[in-house]
Amino acid sequence: MGFIISGEELAVALAPVAVYWIYSGVYVALGSAGALDRYRLHSRRDEETKNMASKKDVVKGVLLQQAIQVAISLAVLKQDGGDDGVETGQASTPAAAAAAAAALLGVAARFGVAMVVLDTWQYFMHRLMHASPYMYQRFHSRHHRVVAPYAFLTETLSGAAAFLASGMAAAFFALATVKGIDDHCGLMLPWNPLHAAFGNNTAYHDVHHQRGGGRRNLSQPFFVVWDRLLGTHAGYVVLATKDGGLEAKAMEDYRHVA
Ligand SMILES: [Zn+2]
Ligand SMILES: [Zn+2]
Repeated sequence: MGFIISGEELAVALAPVAVYWIYSGVYVALGSAGALDRYRLHSRRDEETKNMASKKDVVKGVLLQQAIQVAISLAVLKQDGGDDGVETGQASTPAAAAAAAAALLGVAARFGVAMVVLDTWQYFMHRLMHASPYMYQRFHSRHHRVVAPYAFLTETLSGAAAFLASGMAAAFFALATVKGIDDHCGLMLPWNPLHAAFGNNTAYHDVHHQRGGGRRNLSQPFFVVWDRLLGTHAGYVVLATKDGGLEAKAMEDYRHVA
């Protein structure tokens, strides 16, 4: 273990940053395509009138976080020798095929465990951010200055914690990053596989960003279990708006007016 950073280590540390900007860039492009306006949860006018932070401010905040995140990632890679834990190889005999299948199952199990660990960490950190006025003001209020989320609003430092905790490193970190971006994309595209796989999606998290939303839908990024267990689950309904877009409404508000 030395202090010189190899090209491979740098590539592993920077990969989630690249994934972040490529994936959110895709959503920025999709969001600017007028043809997809009917899937938008917020109109462009909402972005201009409701958000108290500009896109430029958000980008600056994300870049600062990513600089810290890359430093943490490099420190972790230095410690564990950069092994991402994913075995690769050719399965040429039945025994090798069985070993490859077992390895694949092992990877799936580790992803599952890492998802639960990250969700648990995120839920309690997020709840603390809203429960403590100091924590909210100091760390989380800027995230809520945006009511009509941008895809690149998602914070990734907790993902860096998952990177430490999972032993899965880059592959899991990339998945968590993609999921966080998806939760802020503001587009309810009907063919989105992440929306099909997880109840926790951009509409679910949109309810959290709405006025008074700080007490509900705190779970992130994969499951809604902690919200259900601890009484912060609001659920949502997606309604068509008069201007041809969509709107996510908390189920309890919907019942109130319906
Ligand atoms: Zn958010
Ligand atoms: Zn929040």
